[in-house]
Amino acid sequence: RVNFEYCDQLVEKFEQVCEKPELHKSSVYYTGVDLGTACVVVAVLDENYEPVAGCYKYADVVRDGMVVDYIGAVQIVREMKQELEEKLDTELVYAAAAIPPGTETVDSGAVENVVRGAGFTLSNLLDEPTAANEVLKIQNGAVVDIGGGTTGISIFKDGKVVYIADEPTGGTHFSLVLSGAYKMPFEDAEVFKRDPDNHKEIFPVLKPVIEKVAAIINEHIEGHQVEEISLVGGTCCLTGIEGTIEKKTGIYTHKPRNPMFVTPLGIALSC
Ligand code: ATP
Repeated sequence: RVNFEYCDQLVEKFEQVCEKPELHKSSVYYTGVDLGTACVVVAVLDENYEPVAGCYKYADVVRDGMVVDYIGAVQIVREMKQELEEKLDTELVYAAAAIPPGTETVDSGAVENVVRGAGFTLSNLLDEPTAANEVLKIQNGAVVDIGGGTTGISIFKDGKVVYIADEPTGGTHFSLVLSGAYKMPFEDAEVFKRDPDNHKEIFPVLKPVIEKVAAIINEHIEGHQVEEISLVGGTCCLTGIEGTIEKKTGIYTHKPRNPMFVTPLGIALSC
């Protein structure tokens, strides 16, 4: 079984420093930039790879893993960089970024340019599952990353990615279903969905979409010997999602504390 202890400690610390940055001096800072369909997350670690600051913003600059608003993306990352620099009273020089599996040939240049355009020196560009595994440290099993626009399925053997797929179903579809069911604008449905107090009420409405995601997972892991699934990505914050996925796949499924922050922290660790 994957031991989430390290991951949970790191994420807990990150949640704390997003609220209140740690102001001790460090000889170097490592920044991870996660440009997502729904959300841009920036995580800053100190010389000991401990989180010291972070922030996240909902934005519409990337769709299904592709940068669709280049200027907007540069502007958001630049603003977030400045905000964190002011809070830490230091300049953030180096940053790493990640790209969804399968977009290397078409889009990695855009992600690179966004990070550079925001004023960082790019120190690493890796794929999202490898970034998540910097934190999870999985040897054997599947990592399922349910983000805003897509669901990424990666299978690990002996700590290395042996299979990757990215399918266009994610949290945005969950919000669309809620928007239709509750007859509310998409933006309101998105906010309503993210509030944990509403999770019990909305779960039955979202169950068919969760089952659809589980069917996608099944399609991709068929033929591979997968004994456990680790869930990451913001959509996995939905209370109880792991139970439905476990039931539909028949594979032990678990999620760490705040799955939304695993990949951004892994990106920063790889810096
Ligand atoms: P992608 O990986 O597809 O490019 P992304 O990187 O923006 O997208 P994440 O930041 O991992 O994805 O997750 C964003 C999604 O998670 C959004 O759809 C958002 O509504 C959803 N989400 C965030 N917090 C919660 C929550 N508490 N409950 C339910 N869903 C949530």
